Amino acid sequence: MLLTGGRVIDPANRFDAVADVLVVDGKIAAVGPGLAPGAPAQIQRFDADGLVVCPGLIDLHAHLREPGQSAKETIATGTASAARGGFTSVVCMPNTSPAIDNPGTVALIRERAARESKINVFVAGAITNNIAGEELAPIGSLKSAGVIAISDDGHCVQNNDLMRRALEYAKMFDLPVMDHCQDYSIVTDGVMHEGYWSAVLGLRGWPASGEELIVSRNILLAGLTGAHVHCQHMSSAGSVQLLREAKKRGIPVSGEACPHHFTLTDTGLAGSEKFWSTDGRDIMAGPPEGRPRWPSYDTNFKMNPPLRSAADRAAVIEGLADGTLEIISSDHAPHCDYEKEVEFDYAPFGIVGFETELALALMQLYHSKKLSLSDLIAKFTVAPARLLRLPGKGHLGIGADGDLTVFDPGQEWTFDPGTSPGKSRNSPFAGWAMKGRARATIVNGAIAWQGRN
Ligand SMILES: [Zn+2]
Repeated sequence: MLLTGGRVIDPANRFDAVADVLVVDGKIAAVGPGLAPGAPAQIQRFDADGLVVCPGLIDLHAHLREPGQSAKETIATGTASAARGGFTSVVCMPNTSPAIDNPGTVALIRERAARESKINVFVAGAITNNIAGEELAPIGSLKSAGVIAISDDGHCVQNNDLMRRALEYAKMFDLPVMDHCQDYSIVTDGVMHEGYWSAVLGLRGWPASGEELIVSRNILLAGLTGAHVHCQHMSSAGSVQLLREAKKRGIPVSGEACPHHFTLTDTGLAGSEKFWSTDGRDIMAGPPEGRPRWPSYDTNFKMNPPLRSAADRAAVIEGLADGTLEIISSDHAPHCDYEKEVEFDYAPFGIVGFETELALALMQLYHSKKLSLSDLIAKFTVAPARLLRLPGKGHLGIGADGDLTVFDPGQEWTFDPGTSPGKSRNSPFAGWAMKGRARATIVNGAIAWQGRN
């Protein structure tokens, strides 16, 4: 395949120029101007004029729900949604049913993905058996079966000694450990950020310190063991500051942020977009026209960790801008309508994210001038590829895998979850005006998905 005339951005190689990209036998064969005359005559051509061409986007945090929860999503539907969002690789989390804590389940997912997915599916194995936090999963066998990381995502290992052993094993097997940071003793059954709005709405709070305690624990254990700990979906200002300071000291930690945490705040639960520029309290005190008009207690605003304050959101954006948070992920977490259409306390945590991820990142970080396009793309490409030790992914060096994402950073569109090839519709962004959209998702030099403008 030959892509011509696009703005090619390859952060790993500090390349940003209008150029052609030639993919031969599924691998990057050349990047540069004027490749058309030398290309094989019968080669498939893609006119990328006016579009950005970059290494295929990687989403290292997603829930594909197979095996066991295929009413919410399947490998086929989840990866179709990811392809439509511009992603060429996704990492599925192990909190399936049964959990991905044994080589058989890893094999099942890999076989099914090979048959049913047009994009790459990588598997994260569990840290502990059945994600119960009690005894270590067979980490060596999971590695042999092909997992590329371990995580108890959705849950968090509470026993610090067990976590230390997990890190020591993971280091021995050269596997990154990804952690969902939640201290159960302080979070208990919180359903939203603990603060002003949890008090006003009468919902149980999930305090930021519940995340920060485990981030601190992970920093200490990374220092003790020398194993790398990746902190998933960072939501609080304190977590960002802890990571920033630890990285300065050379501790092997990293962090990731999700679009909902750098776009929304907990005032969304009270139901107004106007609230999102501030913490909303002043508007509540003012004249009624500024007050919430959307339904409050919308369970599509319920996720774990929860949406936090405007100050937390600003800190997450600052952490992305200064490089403290190197990676952006969706935490794509599909749930059926009937599961979400219940009282707020009873609804499951999580929202779908593949198809809004790129646009929200572009809007909040690039169009708002917080990050250059190249630095933003790095958080979807070279940074996750390095963490996951995928040398052929995340860059456009000669011989790299022929995975490419083509997108229009300026395209304006409206998100309608009803058009998604995914099975679930649980998004707080329904009806939102978006800016920036994938146009083609190319895997091993073949088009996995292509959309119109
Ligand atoms: Zn999680």
